[in-house]
Amino acid sequence: SGRVIGVEGLVVEYPVRVGFLHRRRVRAVDAVDLHLGRGEILGLVGESGCGKSTLARVVVGLASPSAGRILLDGVPVPSRRPPEMRRRVQMIYQDPGSSLNPRRTVLQTLAEPLRRHRIVPAEEIEGRALELLEMVGLGKRQLSALPRELSGGQRQRVAIARALAVEPEVLVADEAVAALDASVAGAVLNLLRDLRDRLGLTVLFISHDLATVRGLCDRVAVMYMGSVVEEGPVVEVFARPGHPYTRVLLDAVPSRSRRQPGVAVRGEPPSPLRIPSGCRFHPRCPDATALCGESNPPEARRNAQRVMCHFAWQPEHAAEPQGQVSA
Ligand code: SF4
Ligand code: MG
Repeated sequence: SGRVIGVEGLVVEYPVRVGFLHRRRVRAVDAVDLHLGRGEILGLVGESGCGKSTLARVVVGLASPSAGRILLDGVPVPSRRPPEMRRRVQMIYQDPGSSLNPRRTVLQTLAEPLRRHRIVPAEEIEGRALELLEMVGLGKRQLSALPRELSGGQRQRVAIARALAVEPEVLVADEAVAALDASVAGAVLNLLRDLRDRLGLTVLFISHDLATVRGLCDRVAVMYMGSVVEEGPVVEVFARPGHPYTRVLLDAVPSRSRRQPGVAVRGEPPSPLRIPSGCRFHPRCPDATALCGESNPPEARRNAQRVMCHFAWQPEHAAEPQGQVSA
């Protein structure tokens, strides 16, 4: 399976107002390299504000990178993305209620992209809309429904059907089940897995929820303050996290054996306005040493796993008292 979509050296900056007079550029995404193989589901995790939604918007073409490039089937994507390239990468949002037009029936919602991208001739649109609905577990009864007549789970299925209408190769799902009840979310996750299996779809699945990522994804990338700090197969990363930040996130996942959720990441939440020197995680890292505040960590590799840390896989190294640990 070749690489379907990827980003190389991706940087996304945008201006922010600081106080009354000042403007500064903040770096929401900083030199990210990520590639997805065909039919792969990659989970992108991290705290809110870490840059994962910005990365998603760039991948689907809703925002432009400041530097670096996006590759689709190995071909660099131009900054003004042609409609044919746009068609191949589709997005599903967290809230289908606001992404669906409240005055349009499901048929009208599905007909629009079919018509715009000339997927089928006019006389076949209704038939194709019905096929799309059946593909996502809905049917004829929903064809003439308005969004308010559907449940949250049904609305998200319609949003998925609309994304599938243009026959994309890549789906980007940004917190696509975060607003749904657990059982409904589980059913939508099963649908995504099933669509990957049946259509060979490639999925970039953005989530703050590691338990969901563990159940759904093949690989996982962990983002912190605009950087990918760890990446690898889900099985390896969950069994042997190499980065202290990944370990802290995993400790916070409630498990059956441990009812109490673990501690959240201590210290101040990250702000892209104040990127620390050296390793950007050092002010919050339980394993930081003086070196960490001074120099950028190199990439460490183990099999298919890569980790940006001076002491990857060495929690026993844990900070001497003079380390840069803050309360
Ligand atoms: Fe922690 Fe240092 Fe590794 Fe950064 S480089 S994650 S501060 S141990
Ligand atoms: Mg977000």
